[in-house]
Amino acid sequence: MGVGAVAQTALAAGAGLEIAGPEEGAGIAVDSSLRSSDPAVFAAGDVASAAHPLFGRRLRVEHWANALNGGPAAARAMLGQEVVYDRVPYFFSDQYDLGMEYSGHAVPGSYDHVVVRGDAAKREFIAFWQAPDNRVLAGMNVNVWDVAGSIQQLVRSGRPVDPDRLADPAVPLAEL
Ligand SMILES: Cc1cc2nc3c(=O)[nH]c(=O)nc-3n(C[C@H](O)[C@H](O)[C@H](O)COP(=O)(O)OP(=O)(O)OC[C@H]3O[C@@H](n4cnc5c(N)ncnc54)[C@H](O)[C@@H]3O)c2cc1C
Repeated sequence: MGVGAVAQTALAAGAGLEIAGPEEGAGIAVDSSLRSSDPAVFAAGDVASAAHPLFGRRLRVEHWANALNGGPAAARAMLGQEVVYDRVPYFFSDQYDLGMEYSGHAVPGSYDHVVVRGDAAKREFIAFWQAPDNRVLAGMNVNVWDVAGSIQQLVRSGRPVDPDRLADPAVPLAEL
């Protein structure tokens, strides 16, 4: 069964704040400092469709880590500090004996190919979504641990990565 979730934007819309379109998650539209269309109002967490500098578009991220990190970032912006909230989108999920972490953003149409490092049949692998120019847009580690940081560095670097080396477990991720 798949169940969707919708951001509760009625209060914000009633107050005249800009709401993002469905392609941007239909949350409260905020800039990369989490400031809404009213400069005195900020939004963070599930309800915010935030401009993401790495991806050049607004994203709405439904995950605990985003709520945890977005709130303090919004608070710093409220205090007048220079804030660019640019964490690589991330979520984890545990499904019975399958544990996974996903970092990045690769919606259908945005990527060219998927590279698998490891053994998918054994359910121990990392999948990488790559752009046509071989930039890594997202990676998901499945039953492989302590690699999310390296995957996020690959996404953040915006650099092309040779798919053969990406698929080769003998090549350390940190080297890539
Ligand atoms: C079924 C499910 C499973 C999940 N599992 C995980 C997991 O395993 N790990 C993980 O990291 N994340 C998980 N998440 C996601 C995580 O719960 C959310 O990302 C996180 O709770 C978002 O925090 P938030 O503060 O942005 O929003 P919320 O926790 O949704 O808090 C928003 C609050 O605002 C209140 N509110 C809304 N409108 C108004 C209004 N007009 N006036 C006053 N109050 C209002 C709501 O009642 C709510 O209490 C899961 C979510 C769901 C639905």
